[in-house]
Amino acid sequence: MGKGYRGKLCVYCLEAEAEDGDHVLSRQFVLPEHRHNLPKVPACKRCNNEKSKLEHYLTTVMPFGGRHGDAGRILAEQVPGRLVRNERLCRELAAGTEQYLVSENGGLWEPSMTVPLDGRALEGLFEYMTRGLAWHHWRLTFGPGFVVRAAFLSEAASRLFEGLMARNGERVNGKLGGNALDYEGVKANDGKGLTVWRMSLYRAVVAGDRGGTGREERSSTSHCITAPKNWPTTAKFLEMLGD
Ligand SMILES: [Zn+2]
Repeated sequence: MGKGYRGKLCVYCLEAEAEDGDHVLSRQFVLPEHRHNLPKVPACKRCNNEKSKLEHYLTTVMPFGGRHGDAGRILAEQVPGRLVRNERLCRELAAGTEQYLVSENGGLWEPSMTVPLDGRALEGLFEYMTRGLAWHHWRLTFGPGFVVRAAFLSEAASRLFEGLMARNGERVNGKLGGNALDYEGVKANDGKGLTVWRMSLYRAVVAGDRGGTGREERSSTSHCITAPKNWPTTAKFLEMLGD
């Protein structure tokens, strides 16, 4: 194990030597038959542990909102065992789960549910994935002079972002692990480290009350940006996120 990754610089923190390769999309998000060919990147022990904590939580919670092809089986086959091992989370989910009926594009009414989600945990995982995918596709890394920030955006911020995504640049996309992760990324041609991404995990819809306006916005897509900290656009973007 670890061949080819051990001793390289960790792509997440750029501070420590990698102990092993980390699956950018954890195998735990995916049914066993779709676990082959998941991209791996060099990662140190500390980053691996920090990312694992997010994965531990999200592999238990996200399947409840899953809408991709494997969603039903993941919820039925993989989640019960994880809930047994995490009593506190189990109670939290039981208390916060709501059932409702949903009809998509005029189709049949189908039962669905919402569960409480720590959205910042999912954004945090997307930030790791952005670093991982940028290295996987372009061997790009982002040191302390860069912002790497993922967010489920309001409509206004989303428009700003889609404008950035539409610009000319090198494009990559992928559907990993039986469509568990669907992503698209664009790298600006100027070589200064601007990349923008769309990501969706399980096509799950995440709802939130933005800025305490009482208006709920729903999205299945998170955006992520990597950009030099000292750019005016970066500051404007972070301001829109309330950072
Ligand atoms: Zn690290």
